[in-house]
Amino acid sequence: MKFSELDIPSNILETLDKMGYDEMTPVQEATYPIISEGHDLCALAETGSGKTAACAIPLIQKVDPALNAIQGLVIVPTRELCIQYVAEIHKIAAKTDVVSFAVYGGFDKDIDIAKLKHGVHILVATPGRLLDYLYSGILSFSHVKCAILDEADELLKVGFLEDIEFILSCILHKHQTLLFSATMPDDIKTLAHDCLRDPRHISLIAERPAPESIEHYFAYLHPKHKQTELIKYIKGEDVKQMLIFCNARHMVDKLFHDIRKELNSIEYIHAGLSQEKRSSIFARFKTRKVRYLIASDVAGRGLDFSHVSHVVNWNLPRGSEQYTHRTGRTGRMGRKGKALTFITKNDIPNLRELIHKKKITPCWIGEDPLKVTDAHQKRKKRMGKRPFRPYSGNESKNP
Ligand code: ADP
Ligand code: MG
Repeated sequence: MKFSELDIPSNILETLDKMGYDEMTPVQEATYPIISEGHDLCALAETGSGKTAACAIPLIQKVDPALNAIQGLVIVPTRELCIQYVAEIHKIAAKTDVVSFAVYGGFDKDIDIAKLKHGVHILVATPGRLLDYLYSGILSFSHVKCAILDEADELLKVGFLEDIEFILSCILHKHQTLLFSATMPDDIKTLAHDCLRDPRHISLIAERPAPESIEHYFAYLHPKHKQTELIKYIKGEDVKQMLIFCNARHMVDKLFHDIRKELNSIEYIHAGLSQEKRSSIFARFKTRKVRYLIASDVAGRGLDFSHVSHVVNWNLPRGSEQYTHRTGRTGRMGRKGKALTFITKNDIPNLRELIHKKKITPCWIGEDPLKVTDAHQKRKKRMGKRPFRPYSGNESKNP
């Protein structure tokens, strides 16, 4: 279905056309009538499928520009996502009188306060900064019509949950609440439901690895060989842009230090950097001025880097959801993408679970450790209680 077939005002429609948004994506088509009619909603759709515009387009239409008050509130888990989200609203609303603004940690508070006083219709925020302004009485939610949690399952996790509950409890009147994500683990589903009133549910997450445009490569190796393998892999691939994820900040620092001489145009990002530096690196990567970005999970969710052709997991992510979000930084909007995950010995049980849960067909670069361990299990069964003999690599020659 095309946007032009909907009752979207011409000043938004023309902008969408300029942005190249002609056909609606499936999540946009499915959620538009629900949001427009004012229902609460929990929408799940794969990474890079256009969830931001799915929410932003009807949200902008709900705003009455003549009323100088916050009418739409969008909460996101990271600062970079906040910047990206508000930029999308800003673009779509360019020919309207709707004012959108983002508040997030690390940004100048005086500028925030001046802007908020002047008048903002749609506020996009990270939880910390929002709490800060709520406690100091700078914000009023008395005209909020619609509250949105983007990356909702992340915002409802232990670290954020209390803050989110408090923020939502500050909207005292009846309003609409929308949750969006690419993942929703079972233990979070109940919490999600508690935020909603008579909600509609849209789930476009298929029983297959999503998105289909991503190829999932794995390499089983000793940790000390990772760096050589990474460089070898990069040299053999046509890399437009690459994101390399590590599980901890100090690993990001170390890897950057170790490989910066071998690769041109490389940067790193994690929450330990100043906001100025984070924003500058984020902007430079987004505009392709940087080719390789080593990152912590601060860049693991929501960020839309259209030209990322490759994602590398230096470490196996801590859960299957995190795997989906990290690898979802490539293969966006049906483009092709490759994900490579380094696996070491201790990762095998978690890897089995990941492959099973996400229905991934792994492509192994080199040895497939699952085949080896499966064969070993079978042999153990066959041999009964005979003493354990580690795999030697020559098994097939010595049946
Ligand atoms: P998600 O939140 O589902 O991960 P995003 O909202 O970040 O996805 O959108 C992914 C990309 O798709 C963005 O670059 C966005 O500009 C583009 N996009 C969104 N909707 C459309 C559309 N209808 N037609 C073309 N491109 C679109
Ligand atoms: Mg998103």
